[in-house]
Amino acid sequence: MAFYTPKPQTRKPMPATSHRVSLFTESVIRRMTRVANECGAINLSQGFPDFDPPQELRESLERVAREGPHQYAVTWGSPGFREALARKHERFTGLHLDPDRNIVVTCGSTEAMMAAMMTACNPGDRVIVFSPFYENYVADTILTGAEPLYVPLHPPDFTFDRDELRRAFERRPKALILCNPSNPTGKVFAREELLHLAALAEEFDAFVITDEVYEHIVYAPHEHVTFATLPGMFDRTISCGSLSKTYSITGWRLGHVIAPPRIIDGIRKVHDFLTVGAAAPLQETAIAGLNLPLTYYQGLRADYARKRDIFLGALDAAGLKYTRPQGAYYVMVDISGFETDDDDVRFSEWLAREIGVAAVPGSSFFHEPVRHLIRFHFAKREDTLREAGRRLQRLAEIRERIIRR
Ligand code: GLN
Repeated sequence: MAFYTPKPQTRKPMPATSHRVSLFTESVIRRMTRVANECGAINLSQGFPDFDPPQELRESLERVAREGPHQYAVTWGSPGFREALARKHERFTGLHLDPDRNIVVTCGSTEAMMAAMMTACNPGDRVIVFSPFYENYVADTILTGAEPLYVPLHPPDFTFDRDELRRAFERRPKALILCNPSNPTGKVFAREELLHLAALAEEFDAFVITDEVYEHIVYAPHEHVTFATLPGMFDRTISCGSLSKTYSITGWRLGHVIAPPRIIDGIRKVHDFLTVGAAAPLQETAIAGLNLPLTYYQGLRADYARKRDIFLGALDAAGLKYTRPQGAYYVMVDISGFETDDDDVRFSEWLAREIGVAAVPGSSFFHEPVRHLIRFHFAKREDTLREAGRRLQRLAEIRERIIRR
């Protein structure tokens, strides 16, 4: 296909695009998905399942296709969906939510985070971001006109240093972004770590913007603590979440913000002008997911625990070192010892093309110059993970050869 390109002599001066769009690059996660598709690699880069959502949701989708709704829902979410979400949230967190005053339904947690940032921050404000971070957070910060203050989560166990965190708070940030369970590290913040964050947020009067999309994917003995349930925290917490991971429906783009009414008022306005609303038929459909019994969530956990064990077993067999994930469905793997171990981007390209498994170069998540880590996800069918494992097995031989040289 030919694209229209003006001839040089007819090209007139054109306005430059905004400064802000030059401040960040395209998503490396999404780029690695394109690389995987190009070379037929198993895509363990962009985290999404290759299995179906629960049957209840698929049946509900058929019914809604016949019966509707097919037009706009209320901008901040259809009443039935918000009601079901409030009940489900109460079941798991004990927080009693008013569906009309505490919830805005968004197009995925991606929009929820953007709306949260735009509601909480003014241009020039500072925002604490733990590094490594899910790449959207920094783009959100820049698009809001705010400045990220990075606090390292030190590999391999991804702990934060309390002095480093305090020094960041002393620079008077407007907000802290907390991803828990954490993408890309698989860290689940312990209650006592969260209480420490809560005390600092209170002392320095900052918002806490949480991304808790992996709340139901946690491996025993770890437990997810909803930040807003900590003493005094509901009032300053903007909780972002989504149905994508919990019900394996990443393409439906159903997310939400939960917060006190004075914050929700701002979120509603930002959300209305950003997107008007999330897909009405899918909100109606997803009520069937929100009403699933406790056994569904137990099954989800057990399934993911098995996937994790299969994939970690494959990493062990390939002789790769990694940080054992406590939650979410990612694992950070150490590539030290390979020829390109100082260049995770080249390593990841090579891995996709030569070994047939796609990962995300770790450096795209770090502010610090960390180049020896890559991220795999394991939200895949067990046979897909086993096949990835077989392919990764070749790394053991390659490393052997390097060592013998
Ligand atoms: N959250 C997923 C990941 O980190 C998918 C990101 C996306 O492409 N929206 O891979």
